[in-house]
Amino acid sequence: MTAERFDPASYEDAWRERWEADGLYRTEEGGPRAKHYLLTMYPYTSGDVHIGHWYAVTGPDIVARMRRMQGFNVMFPMGFDSFGLPAENAAIDRGIHPAVWTYANIDRMRAQFRTIGTMFDWSREVVTSDPEYYRWTQWLFLQLYRAGLAYRALAAVDWCPKDLVVLAREQVEGPDRRCWRCGTPCVKRDLEQWFFRITNYADELLDFSRIDWPEPINLMQTNWIGRSEGAEIDFPVEADEVDPIRVFTTRPDTVYGATFMVLAPEHAAVAALTSEQLRAEVEAYVTEARRETEIERMSTERERAGIFIGAHAVNPMTNERIPIWISDYVLPGYGTGAVMGVPAHDERDHAFAVRYELPIRYVVRSRDGGVPEGQPFLPHSADEVLVDSGEFTGMAAADAIPAITTRVAELGLGGPAVSYRIRDWLISRQRYWGPPVPIVYCDVHGAQPVPESELPVLLPVDVDFAPTGVSPLQSHAGFLAARCPVGGEPARRETDTLDTFVDSAWYFLRYCSPHEADRPWDPEAVKHWMPVDLYTGGAEHAVLHLLYSRFAVKALRDLGHLDFDEPFQALRNQGQILGADHQRMSKSRGNVVNPDDLVVRYGSDTVRLFLMFIGPWDQGGPWSATGIEGVHRFLARVWNLATDRGSHGPGLTVAIGSDEELTRALRAATHRTIQEVSDDYAELHFNTAISKMMELANAIARAGDAGMVGADAHAEAVDSLLLLLAPAAPHLAEELWKRRGRPYSIHQQAWPTYDPALTATETIELPVQVDGKLRDRLVVTPDTPAEEIERLALASEKVLAHLAGRAPVRVVQVPGRLVNIVTPREG
Ligand SMILES: [Zn+2]
Ligand SMILES: [Zn+2]
Repeated sequence: MTAERFDPASYEDAWRERWEADGLYRTEEGGPRAKHYLLTMYPYTSGDVHIGHWYAVTGPDIVARMRRMQGFNVMFPMGFDSFGLPAENAAIDRGIHPAVWTYANIDRMRAQFRTIGTMFDWSREVVTSDPEYYRWTQWLFLQLYRAGLAYRALAAVDWCPKDLVVLAREQVEGPDRRCWRCGTPCVKRDLEQWFFRITNYADELLDFSRIDWPEPINLMQTNWIGRSEGAEIDFPVEADEVDPIRVFTTRPDTVYGATFMVLAPEHAAVAALTSEQLRAEVEAYVTEARRETEIERMSTERERAGIFIGAHAVNPMTNERIPIWISDYVLPGYGTGAVMGVPAHDERDHAFAVRYELPIRYVVRSRDGGVPEGQPFLPHSADEVLVDSGEFTGMAAADAIPAITTRVAELGLGGPAVSYRIRDWLISRQRYWGPPVPIVYCDVHGAQPVPESELPVLLPVDVDFAPTGVSPLQSHAGFLAARCPVGGEPARRETDTLDTFVDSAWYFLRYCSPHEADRPWDPEAVKHWMPVDLYTGGAEHAVLHLLYSRFAVKALRDLGHLDFDEPFQALRNQGQILGADHQRMSKSRGNVVNPDDLVVRYGSDTVRLFLMFIGPWDQGGPWSATGIEGVHRFLARVWNLATDRGSHGPGLTVAIGSDEELTRALRAATHRTIQEVSDDYAELHFNTAISKMMELANAIARAGDAGMVGADAHAEAVDSLLLLLAPAAPHLAEELWKRRGRPYSIHQQAWPTYDPALTATETIELPVQVDGKLRDRLVVTPDTPAEEIERLALASEKVLAHLAGRAPVRVVQVPGRLVNIVTPREG
């Protein structure tokens, strides 16, 4: 055996090339092994692969490699999310065509990803801006369109004045409503837009009972969907040509306390109801309100300002006339855009009533108490009763909710209702770099879907990218000219493109059969691989990608294309690696860590292992290279152990004991490590798995110094350590496996199993003192008899050196804690 020093550069590239040449990670359907589809979120093609990508993909790569060694048929694909705004911005800023910029980035990122040494099956690569891919994104749109799940409507949309683009609600961030890409505050605009009817699935999307997802993600989706139960109640108005105004309330038990009504300024009935004397004032108020953001309007800090519009409604339960106001605290998009003002039992309504001197009437109180002075009575507890509420007076509030709702329904004035916060998914973008919406407009037949046989609707290459607020496609005559699929007349092509989140709502399906030319996927392949067994990625996608993917799968299921309900069976989020300044890494902050430099210096395995060792994978944290040397030294120690080169460095105590005991202790350490590392990897606890492998390396080193090199237990320990290390440090493990004469490839070996009889036996370390000073440590099993411990202690070379020929007076043992050898006093 050659005794070369540890030098990752001498073998890492070579192994990667061999694995690739041998197609080691290519996955096929079929065979007796159980399938395991492991997926990590594909990256956006924004430039370089940075340390955050390494962090995100190394974790699932470790699991994928272990699952494969455990006998699963593992599919672990990778691709690129390559449509979207940054490519177009690069085109505008630097005069590079988005396609050129994007595909150059993909080539560079693919090469960088390879240096990580992941077992991605690149033969399944998916690139969403390829026509072979977006043809099927357009197909998906057509399926939903035909099913009535895609529609076009005029909408007040969030608009980024810098990017000149419409944003989905999910892409508007923070209390001051900024663009998720550039941070510019958004404004509202009315535009014709395309939507997916995700609200049809609101209730089903609230059911997480059959998937294993992190609770915070489920909670975020639940809050985003925002389901609340209550009642809708019609309030007739005193204007013949206007329909009754419908309100939604979660507290129908308080309807007798409704003393006024408030409409959103945008409510459709406002213009018809406004009296002539007040019209100018009301219109000015409406214009002002539309300038404000939703968050400003919903803020609890500000005073509730409103204006009476000179009209009245009738409370259908009390038959009283109540005034109609408008106020910006009522939003058009929530509930019905109208609320009944119940100032005695709602904080906002109370403040409003006090400000404008509107009547306040308490209709619910606690069974024993009075009503609060000068403030609303809000508690919603079990022992409340209705007062001043007609036939319902004296009824428990909890019973009054269904009773009044039923009464409202009997009167034909509404009934039970559910309200949701979620809105339909806005999918159109007035930009170039995305899949064109496959629709044409004919003067005779209106909007018509492009026949599936004519897909893809290709993006033209020669367009002008100057940002004008309309799609660059609108000035491309060749693209615009189309034929009506119904009558063949000249027609105009839709110029909106699809949101990138449509691309990513189904990419996991395409991986199953990425080369299908005539259909989006092979149903057999999808049946085999789906759903994804484990999906990993950042928690920032909680309400965007993850919700949209669930919707897409449910819709495709209902259209007969899929036969399962959820795309991702288990989901785990990695933490985020921040810059050394504790800020999010970004080029503009200059805090991006380039992994390439670290790879040149330490090799890929050290970088992988270090990233997995810095803390719990689901927590992330600020970047610091402190400790990378220590991880590197650990791998060097493994190198020395596996090549039997001794030299374990300072600080290690030699194990002593009978051969039988040494063997048993080492085997116990080996098998316990197998058990614990297997569990840790499965739970994505990589940092603890690595520290357990470090401990095993120490145990092997001690055993080696005690003369066990060459013993079966020693070989078993080293081989097991390499097998356990193979998923985390794939190059080193392969190299050492070969050097030990084991068959290629270590990544095709069976995962080590442990013997429960051995793991049950623990060993303990006993400090051995001479006259109270620590001189050595014994590694023994807890049941080692006291006489044996005394014999081992007195046989220790270090102890013998300190005794220097003197016979001990006595040996004191604190069972399980320490051994102290007392010598005769000098003099
Ligand atoms: Zn922006
Ligand atoms: Zn036509």
